[in-house]
Amino acid sequence: MSTGYIYDPIFLQHTVAGHVESPERLQAIMSRLEQDGILSNLKQISFIPAKEENLRLVHTQEMIQRVRSAASKGPSWLDMDTYVSPDSYRVALAAVGGGMELVSQIASGVITNGIALLRPPGHHATANRSMGFCLFNNIALAARYLQKHHQLEKIAIIDWDVHHGNGTQEIFYQDPSVFYMSTHLYPHYPGTGGKLEIGEGKGCSTTLNFPLGHGCTRDQYIKYFDQGLEIIKKFHPDFILISAGFDSHADDPLGGLGLYEEDFGLLTTKICEVAKETCQDRVASFLEGGYNLEKLTASVVHHINALLEYRP
Ligand SMILES: [Zn+2]
Repeated sequence: MSTGYIYDPIFLQHTVAGHVESPERLQAIMSRLEQDGILSNLKQISFIPAKEENLRLVHTQEMIQRVRSAASKGPSWLDMDTYVSPDSYRVALAAVGGGMELVSQIASGVITNGIALLRPPGHHATANRSMGFCLFNNIALAARYLQKHHQLEKIAIIDWDVHHGNGTQEIFYQDPSVFYMSTHLYPHYPGTGGKLEIGEGKGCSTTLNFPLGHGCTRDQYIKYFDQGLEIIKKFHPDFILISAGFDSHADDPLGGLGLYEEDFGLLTTKICEVAKETCQDRVASFLEGGYNLEKLTASVVHHINALLEYRP
């Protein structure tokens, strides 16, 4: 049993000049993992791109068509922040397919846990709208895939990106089977994620937001994070997914939440402890944000080293 990872050079083909969500982010991560000898400790998972019908697990047909058509005429912009280049639709299908395969291999017991090193990121994409650098919601699609193909009923998604994962929250807002927890800077992009947003209808109390002010210290952050994990423990998930955005690092240009690279190792360990107690160590993380390349790569190293500790 091992820790797996998803990566493919196709993820570098979604690109537009000068944008902060750039292929260089992933290139920097891969060369650092190689340099540090970490890649050789991980199992690379091969995968095929998702099919359009997989996207429909979460997204509307209209939205899927909008992205495909905008990309084919690309480069163009879906909103002020979110670009598509001619290859973006193909890249996004690959990213979704990679995420699905990673969670599949964990659910089948082939690997213990793993990380999807992919882009474009996903957590801002709602059921019917791409936004915030995100085309399709990779992690929400993986959650639905687990429920549909692996009969795992209860999924917890923990989102430590500095931005609130409005897309993921919205998709599961009325769904008691998926617990969404987010720690994020507030007020900040995209503006959602207030304390009173706790889910709706049957999904009431399976959304948990920790909106944190600019002055929030590392110790306060960790206190809130622990509180959240206690609640997730009671939810007793069958699988834990992490929206791993490393822009919550104190030195990130798009946010900063007072966390340092070592903290991502600590948070990972805390999550893996809950997974050990509740779901046979099943944890998969998905790369979201992180825009200071040096801190991003260092944080990913701490995160992966912590995942590696949980191989039996
Ligand atoms: Zn972010």
